[in-house]
Amino acid sequence: MRHSIRFHLLTFIAALTLAGCSLGSTVRPSSEADAATQWMADVVAISSADESAGRRDAIEQRLATLGIALTHAPFVSGTRNGVNLTAEIAGASTAPLLLLGAHSDKVKAGRGATDNASGSAVVIALAERLRLRPLKHHRVGIAFWDLEENGLLGAKAYIDGGGEKPALYVNFDVFGWGDALWMMTPDARHPLAIASQAAADRAGITLSAGEQYPPTDHLAFLKAGWPAVSYSLVGSREIPRILQAFDGKKPDVPAKVMQVIHSDHDTVMQLDAEEVGRGIAAVEDALRRWDAATDE
Ligand SMILES: [Zn+2]
Repeated sequence: MRHSIRFHLLTFIAALTLAGCSLGSTVRPSSEADAATQWMADVVAISSADESAGRRDAIEQRLATLGIALTHAPFVSGTRNGVNLTAEIAGASTAPLLLLGAHSDKVKAGRGATDNASGSAVVIALAERLRLRPLKHHRVGIAFWDLEENGLLGAKAYIDGGGEKPALYVNFDVFGWGDALWMMTPDARHPLAIASQAAADRAGITLSAGEQYPPTDHLAFLKAGWPAVSYSLVGSREIPRILQAFDGKKPDVPAKVMQVIHSDHDTVMQLDAEEVGRGIAAVEDALRRWDAATDE
């Protein structure tokens, strides 16, 4: 079983590498399909590495092709050593900071494709788009947090270690398939939640926005009193089942997310690039609408 999966994965990586070569001359994702292909190639590259350092290398090499250099921010938390990666993408130095982030680490089991190469690759996709066409009212920064799986340690290290407080932190975790953009927001009337509803309507996907959401790095920001939201892309019918599972209950039908993450099933085979392409376009649209509505 393991052999056969590995064989398919290698074939898949080879195919994507070839696809990546032919895309190499295209500076800008020309369509949602190209963006989805690139996102999948990025997830494959990140999740093919076993160690955190290898995952960071994959992120760094890809961003280097976009002319984006990442700053390494090593930190110590208790007995653990981690490294956060950050960069500024675009925008006037005086403009308020919009910080986009995802955790780059994984648990021991599985490849960490859904959790969270998927979210890391969404941050890369948005960095590419927002660098090509910057926001009007915000400077954009990106961050890849280490040791999320050990208690949001990378995000906490950024906050406690003198990291710049953003006007808004937007987190991405588990963004792998489905018809629903799931948004954690402490305020359902948050301007970005309103913008996300308009963007979801336009993209023909569902928005589920509210406070109930699994723990991830945005919580470190909220606990510090810093403004933050988080996005996932999942199946709309999974959401109540995921919440039940995090509540310690056993739903009648298990949610796919709960069967995939933190297990040997967390491989690229679970992902749906087409649905994610739609999700990325919706988030970009939401961020642009939110930015345009700022100070106007
Ligand atoms: Zn995660």
